[in-house]
Amino acid sequence: MKVLVVGSGGREHALVRTLASSPRKPELLCAPGNAGTARLARNLPVKATDLDGLVSCARAERPDLTVIGPEAPLCAGLTDALEAEGLAVFGPSKEAARLEGSKIFAKEIMQAAGVPTARAESFDDPAAACACLREHGAPVVVKADGLAAGKGVTVCASIDEAERAVREALEEKRFGDAGGCVLIEDCLRGEEASILALTDGETVVPLASSQDHKRAYDGDRGPNTGGMGAYSPAPVVSEDVWRRVMDDIYRPTLAELRRRGIRYKGVLYAGLMIEHGRPRVVEFNCRFGDPETQVVLPRLDSDLLPALQACVDGDLASVEPQWKSEACVCVVMASGGYPGPYEKGLPIEGLNAAEEAGTIVFHAGTDADPEGRVVTAGGRVLGVTALGATLKTAVASAYRGAGKISWDHAFYRTDIAHRELEREEP
Ligand code: ATP
Repeated sequence: MKVLVVGSGGREHALVRTLASSPRKPELLCAPGNAGTARLARNLPVKATDLDGLVSCARAERPDLTVIGPEAPLCAGLTDALEAEGLAVFGPSKEAARLEGSKIFAKEIMQAAGVPTARAESFDDPAAACACLREHGAPVVVKADGLAAGKGVTVCASIDEAERAVREALEEKRFGDAGGCVLIEDCLRGEEASILALTDGETVVPLASSQDHKRAYDGDRGPNTGGMGAYSPAPVVSEDVWRRVMDDIYRPTLAELRRRGIRYKGVLYAGLMIEHGRPRVVEFNCRFGDPETQVVLPRLDSDLLPALQACVDGDLASVEPQWKSEACVCVVMASGGYPGPYEKGLPIEGLNAAEEAGTIVFHAGTDADPEGRVVTAGGRVLGVTALGATLKTAVASAYRGAGKISWDHAFYRTDIAHRELEREEP
């Protein structure tokens, strides 16, 4: 069986590594992949945003299954384009991916389905948006409607800040078309957690819970990033929260989509805010989270491949994933300057030593230079990941691994999972 994974991040390396351990022994391809996926799969030199290139490649390679990692190709319609070639694809259609691609669409679905989420109104007129802000008062959240690489959301402590965010999106077109409309949303309080669930549009199979760390620096300070680390499970997702997530969020959302003639297949990621045991949806993503996937998949104790295939075949009811009881922690190592400008092409030392110390090193922004050395090629470079009998041992092991790796100006947060550790041992 031939499986093509689309993307080049830590998420895709985690997917490739997990699929490589399948007893079905699939032949793996990754487009474009990174230096880590190259060890387990044949990397194809096509960017994840090059839809035409990916379609030509898939036409030539005829994979039995394509797994699409990032949101951009999903929202641009890669699933539809590959299915039109008669290929099987794990990932939602362009229409279904609007749950992530348009925050206004997602809100409309949630409101129609009665899913708990922040109250919000949408605007394309700056004056009307600012009038709403003044009436609403601070704190308030301003969100660009479309995909803005994690930069389209401003949690505003003052109305001045909120008005600036509105003007940047609607007048200065900071996010281009993605910011043609904004949502003005109530600010939710609580603790965040991420749920990834497989679905064939009808059945939902949740994966293990996790929590990521979006801010660049220790103590949740600094700018927002794609995610600086994660851990799984997230104990804030209690059994009762799980029940609410399934009954009040996933089932009604998918039913509302079906009512509109949309069958969602793939991963539906719910970003939650949990306050006093009540989960509310902050956002939906239409794909595996990153870095969450790097802590969820190492805990999987059953074969991922048939589960992904079952989503495509509409046969997910037959799948029951098994989980290791161990905790998993991922520490993201990033290029100095990230999430702002950073240097690329810097040689990375200590990868073998980290692996010999028992950590899994997921590659994200890495490449091989002409001499075959692994060099930096992105902002988030590596996800140094470890399993442990307890969260504490997993944290210690991940940091031991990260401590063995170096390149010029590398940095990482030193407090991944610490809030949870402090709760365990105040
Ligand atoms: P991503 O890059 O993860 O896709 P995004 O641009 O889609 O991010 P969101 O995840 O919707 O943006 O929001 C980013 C962060 O802003 C959330 O993780 C959360 O911390 C905060 N946030 C968003 N909406 C709210 C809200 N209504 N109340 C409080 N905080 C919020």
